[in-house]
Amino acid sequence: MADLTFIGAAGTVTGSKHLLTLGGKHILIDCGMFQGVVDVRTLNDVPLPIAPDDIDAVVVTHGHLDHVGYLPKLVRDGFAGPIYCTPPTEAVMGVVLDDSAHLQQELQERGYQHQRPYAPPMYYDQRDVDRTKRRVKPFDYHTPFDVAGVLQATYFNAGHIIGSAFVALAFDGKRVIFSGDLGRYDRPLLLDPEPIGAADDIICESTYGDRVHPPQPLSDLRAALDAGIARGGAIVIPAFAIERSQDILLAIATLQREDPGLARVSVHLDSPMAEKVDDIFARFPNAHRRIDGDAPETPFGVRNFHMHVTAADSKALNGVSGPHIIISASGMASGGRILHHLHNHLPDRNATVIFPGYQSAGTIGYFLTHGAHTIHLYGDSLPVRAAIVHLEGFSAHADQNELKRWLATASGTPHLYAVHGEAESAAALAATARTAFGWKSDVARRGTTVTL
Ligand SMILES: [Zn+2]
Repeated sequence: MADLTFIGAAGTVTGSKHLLTLGGKHILIDCGMFQGVVDVRTLNDVPLPIAPDDIDAVVVTHGHLDHVGYLPKLVRDGFAGPIYCTPPTEAVMGVVLDDSAHLQQELQERGYQHQRPYAPPMYYDQRDVDRTKRRVKPFDYHTPFDVAGVLQATYFNAGHIIGSAFVALAFDGKRVIFSGDLGRYDRPLLLDPEPIGAADDIICESTYGDRVHPPQPLSDLRAALDAGIARGGAIVIPAFAIERSQDILLAIATLQREDPGLARVSVHLDSPMAEKVDDIFARFPNAHRRIDGDAPETPFGVRNFHMHVTAADSKALNGVSGPHIIISASGMASGGRILHHLHNHLPDRNATVIFPGYQSAGTIGYFLTHGAHTIHLYGDSLPVRAAIVHLEGFSAHADQNELKRWLATASGTPHLYAVHGEAESAAALAATARTAFGWKSDVARRGTTVTL
């Protein structure tokens, strides 16, 4: 018997934290930050239901901030156990946590947030991040390892971002599956999610539990780029440094091979973090599909490619005229260098902004993709004259059909708990488990405990 308490990503898509208690030991599965609108972000200030020094181990599924971003705070507050993850996740997590500490530092120094009513405290600094990194114990996929002397854990590829895993926990003759974030099938860069096998309980993400992705992301991107080139100005693409930037670069390289004319338009990656993530792809060739045409100096074989690493490199982009493509983070324009490019180009009627992903409520990306005519940025009120395009086909999350396809690989009649989804999508996944598979299912509620 084990008790499972839902601390985060229950009723929301961020702040993933699930506490498993068995044999007197306390194990956290993921330890993410809450992100997005103020009501959700303030959940980071709510104390955990357990003292950090009473937690024996953390099992991490993948390196996104909403799954690892709270770890340095846990270490700062006394957690002294091991942190388990796959080797590529250790690398991704290092980049993500360094960036998180840096952004918090910057916010404190700047003393204000872009038109936000809530200024979060500084949760941790670089020293805490460095101490966190020293607690990491990486294990490869398919390699069982002992956790706190009470269970055995094994990672399997989840196909969501590089290094991402779902984890099978074996104890008391049971096999309990935590999906982490589930990726997609037949993608150019990442491997398919692996089959589940035997399962007694599945704690499953439900981000897109009620929706299906558009089928043609590549031709949608091509249409958006063609229209942007015809407008004659900059084409700005806000993209997360992890995965989405690589997906977009790979897509552009593919489109350039189909249409050599497109290669005349220069492509600028303005993100020091994306450069580090590109290096991780190179370091772990077995963790993703082989990429044809890849040359070291041009990620994924993109022609007419320019990397902008330093702040001076980034500023040099202001002087580029005519059609050119700028890819920069963050993907929802909630911070990062993309804000400078939006500041420059939103008022330009020749410019285009392409959002290739989900935009959560309260972000600049959300307002722009929902028809905002004015955006307040750096103290300026900017008219939105650029064309705004929203492409949803580049999601890194399984949609309703892909979740079903993955769940169909489970044997037995597991009990499904839907986590990591807004209310409607979590309810839809729970309903799917009942109607399509005849399983018991529940929507996880924050702060509640169930017995596995
Ligand atoms: Zn994720």
